[in-house]
Amino acid sequence: MRIVESIHEMRDITKRARIEGKIIGFVPTMGSFHEGHLSLMKRGIEEVDLLVISIFVNPTQFGQGEDYDRYPRNIDEDNKKASELGVDIIFYPNVEEIYPDNYHTFVTVEKINNKLCGASRPGFFKGVATVVTKLFNIVRPHKAYFGEKDYQQLVVIRRIEKDLNMDIKIVGMPIIRESDGLAMSSRNLYLTDKERISALSLSRSLNKAKKMVHSGERSAERIISEMRSIIESERFTEIDYIAVCDPEEFDDVDEIKKRTLIALAVMIGKARLIDNCIVEVK
Ligand code: AMP
Repeated sequence: MRIVESIHEMRDITKRARIEGKIIGFVPTMGSFHEGHLSLMKRGIEEVDLLVISIFVNPTQFGQGEDYDRYPRNIDEDNKKASELGVDIIFYPNVEEIYPDNYHTFVTVEKINNKLCGASRPGFFKGVATVVTKLFNIVRPHKAYFGEKDYQQLVVIRRIEKDLNMDIKIVGMPIIRESDGLAMSSRNLYLTDKERISALSLSRSLNKAKKMVHSGERSAERIISEMRSIIESERFTEIDYIAVCDPEEFDDVDEIKKRTLIALAVMIGKARLIDNCIVEVK
């Protein structure tokens, strides 16, 4: 496994690989790997000839007062895990490499950028869309892997790929959870033991929502109210949003009539956690 820090060198490697007819896969990350990240890499390794992953804590997607400075960084551990899996290249640029002085260009996905997480984190999806576009242009993969844990992000990336004619296959991968249901996240490291117990209410509320839909409930209001009461009955929880919405445009729905996204974001202590599920109604 090679660790590459410069854009120039990274480009060179994938340019050669393309000439050799290799299929290039790409997994962008902010590092501090858990099984969620590793599941994307494993899938990539199965499917492509050269798997590139990136580790870059992207400053432009963090708002003022958010956790950019204290976001967990575990590069040595990450290297070890990636190399044991069989990743070929880690692209590990520094901030100046990606955003040199006089950097001016940003990518904005209109309309869906200010819904759900975008409403409480203005500028977040602009930062994500910009860095992913840049990374795609540097690595030029055939396939890129993203987790459904960040469902709205996955949809934003599918939109960029389609709207900007990138010709990259975007592969969405299921949410990996701890055995007690907590969706894996680098931010789980912020939780104290007691907060972690409260955090289980997120997946519990989604499971309850799924059960309600399964037993015939179609009212978004009643589902949200039930979810809210499960989460609010735990200490340390502060709900940012619970949404029952269209899974492409993120417009709220009153009644569940077709494929619907149920998504939430909750602050627990210092951690802002997100989780979601899709419900299908025939
Ligand atoms: P991050 O390092 O948090 O930016 O995540 C990098 C990639 O891993 C994104 O595509 C995430 O959606 C994905 N990911 C993060 N957590 C999980 C999880 N629990 N299950 C599946 N994918 C995940």
